Amino acid sequence: MSKQVKAVSLISGGLDSMLATKAIMEQGVHVEGINFFTGFCVEGHTHAIRKKDKAKPKRNNSLWVAETLGIKLHIIDIIEEYKDVLINPKHGYGANMNPCLDCKIFMVNKAKQWIQENDFDFIITGEVMGQRPMSQRRETMPIIAAESGADDRLLRPLCAKNLPATLPEREGWIDRAQLFDFSGRSRKPQMALAEKYELGDYSQPAGGCCFLTDESYSLKLVDLWKARGDKDYDLDDVMLLKVGRHIRPRDNFKVIVAREDGEARFMQGYKKNYINMNCSSHRGPLALIDGSPSAEDLYLAAQIVARYGQGRDADQVEVMIRDLAGNESKIQVQPLAKDAVLQEWFV
Ligand code: SF4
Repeated sequence: MSKQVKAVSLISGGLDSMLATKAIMEQGVHVEGINFFTGFCVEGHTHAIRKKDKAKPKRNNSLWVAETLGIKLHIIDIIEEYKDVLINPKHGYGANMNPCLDCKIFMVNKAKQWIQENDFDFIITGEVMGQRPMSQRRETMPIIAAESGADDRLLRPLCAKNLPATLPEREGWIDRAQLFDFSGRSRKPQMALAEKYELGDYSQPAGGCCFLTDESYSLKLVDLWKARGDKDYDLDDVMLLKVGRHIRPRDNFKVIVAREDGEARFMQGYKKNYINMNCSSHRGPLALIDGSPSAEDLYLAAQIVARYGQGRDADQVEVMIRDLAGNESKIQVQPLAKDAVLQEWFV
């Protein structure tokens, strides 16, 4: 009896990795998925926070892809190890703080370790030549294969015919003739293939697969590093950069103000880790204070928070402040006037 060939597929939750996986499954290969959790992923519960995403299904797309294809999905936490990729990318950043090429190399290398440990034969990605300016170019495809150490055990089914034959093709584990030659930015070939495979309702992300491709998110990350004087971060930092208005009136602290109820509920979970405040005399948003504020800074923060509550036009509002030990105190402040909240404070 011939050996069952096994492949692992890097599942982002988007259409391309879904199609690449399906194409290899169609050839009788046993495929399992890996989804790497960096903390910056667009996937997951943050979809569920804001009202603007109300129409979108509240689901984790990588889990949904795995369920739809009927494959096992391994979600692997790489938050700590990923820091070095983000902070010191050998190949630099893309348009924002996205180190896509180093990120791909890192993830394929992790997948290579995984196949060695689990006795799998090769790795699949949904890369399409020419689709992304940084990591999916003709010149970068061999760099990813070489620097990850995966070499010719890395197969990109959607554009395989544009590339030299890999080990699975040469060994006859899969039929190269049934792979694809997609290239460029057009999504039409992928959409047609999805239709052929009868895959509907797939995710259509506007940008990349993570928040690091987002300009506003990247600016907040750089601001955080600058304010702290070092580039370290933890998961709480990463998550909180996804929500709220970030207002930095002074270098030593910033105020994160919830913009809507969903964000306020999400931020409730961080109250123990941050000084926090909200108006107690009027309805108003929850705010977290990041940094090392003085008493005077907290007064200014309370005036800013009051500005975003229903007492914004009152002479005085009462603001409840909770410190890190959970002690509560109330102060009376005059809300800042609209034009006193300076534009340059917004991160
Ligand atoms: S968009 Fe984010 S997760 Fe995707 S390759 Fe780039 S840095 Fe990595």
